[in-house]
Amino acid sequence: MNEAPIQGEGDPMRLDTFSMLENLSEEVRSFYEEVKDLRITPAGDARTCSHLIREQFDFESPVPAAELFESVRTLMRDWTIHVTHPRSFGNFNPSVTVESIVGDALTALYNPQLAVWAHAPAALELENRVLDLFRARFGFDVESSIANFTSGGAEANLSALVVALTHGLPDYGEKGLVGVGEQPTLYLSTGGHESFIKAAHIAGLGRTAIRRVPADANHQLDVASLATMVREDRSKGKFPLMVVGTAGTTAMGMIDPLCEIGDFCRSEGMWFHVDAAWGGAAILSDRLKSTLAGIESADSITCDAHKWLSVPMGAGMFFCRHRSSVLQAFRISTGYMPEATSDRVDPYSSTMQWSRRCIGLKVFISLAARGRLGMAQIIEHQAAMGDYLRTRLVANGWSVTNNTPLPVVCFTHNRIRNSANETKRIADKIVSNGSAWISNIEMTNGQPSLKACVTSFRTQSSDIDHLVESLQQSLRVH
Ligand SMILES: *Cc1c(COP(=O)(O)O)cnc(C)c1O
Repeated sequence: MNEAPIQGEGDPMRLDTFSMLENLSEEVRSFYEEVKDLRITPAGDARTCSHLIREQFDFESPVPAAELFESVRTLMRDWTIHVTHPRSFGNFNPSVTVESIVGDALTALYNPQLAVWAHAPAALELENRVLDLFRARFGFDVESSIANFTSGGAEANLSALVVALTHGLPDYGEKGLVGVGEQPTLYLSTGGHESFIKAAHIAGLGRTAIRRVPADANHQLDVASLATMVREDRSKGKFPLMVVGTAGTTAMGMIDPLCEIGDFCRSEGMWFHVDAAWGGAAILSDRLKSTLAGIESADSITCDAHKWLSVPMGAGMFFCRHRSSVLQAFRISTGYMPEATSDRVDPYSSTMQWSRRCIGLKVFISLAARGRLGMAQIIEHQAAMGDYLRTRLVANGWSVTNNTPLPVVCFTHNRIRNSANETKRIADKIVSNGSAWISNIEMTNGQPSLKACVTSFRTQSSDIDHLVESLQQSLRVH
């Protein structure tokens, strides 16, 4: 009898790569446990990593499976800033749940093609189930609105701009901006996200189309200044197209006055986009959702699953109240793709991407495994850890420099206040020590500040105590 192993069947090289699956499941278990004791930052100069890889892999001779797995595992552990560490107080990159890792692995296994509904109905309907929950929570009508998963917030924000242009300027789609004449302009606060600058460049508006609206004393978009800027731009012949309200600014976690911005946009006939890339997940929490009041009046919303929903990158979501404008913006037909039917839209002709992986399975699995209340609990726990950090900082003589219900804590100390260099030195000291990760920022008023964002469901009060102790120490040896 021919005793060819089943593994590698149909694979001309018959590699023993199935053994790596056992390695994988072992590594998921051990890394999940061990990450809390690892250094968060690489121990050496990051450039060494590139030399190591070039030395180990020439791609000429095959590397045996066990050795290959071990090499990759070691490289990834040694040369990564471990955002899943409980004391990674960084920029919204979460710890990931085991079920979400399984969701991503299953996606890779079946490799469903999500361009066409009929080719991947299970994958798309699993995604749609998640999007429907969010649409309902955001207060969108499920019949007349539309939503899709994206690679992340940047793609969702670009989608919003393209749809707003298509909606507001009938000639934009066919003739481009040349056919429009006047320059469309876009307004966001000084704390708003820079992905809109790239979006303005890509969409052909030009970067000067971005108007930065000053923040008020509380670091939120100042609606009176917005009104003045829009009026002036109109008088100069510009076309004020869209206002972005940010729900959870990247540097300071601030939520712009969404209700007022929504009212303003309606009175001016402008598109209202809410960039809730990080903060939007709070909509799942009955306790925190009121912080997003006003989001229900948005024309479109960006919300990332890969930030506050504890799933691996990249998983963004784009929501739009105007189904027909989205279908108009991304419409396409070919001689080789199936024609759309009226009841099911095909993602290749209703979203930015063409061939697309299943992004939402990891989110679906997480929501199904924990229930909405379980996911809400994770979010509320992190908000509570943010509150605890504020309390501990103040008790130790630090002052908190922002005012937000979300767990982004900006803070300073009399000894470093006003000095960007000293502030950065403290952050660098904490990071180089390897047991916690924080950053330094410039606030909307130009002042320097330290920043710690609770972004991991693993973060416990002992981790907060550890951070505060390290901060005290870095101040003492200062
Ligand atoms: C992270 C973030 C973005 C960019 O999203 P990506 O998922 O990184 O593409 C945009 N806006 C805000 C407010 C963000 O926090």
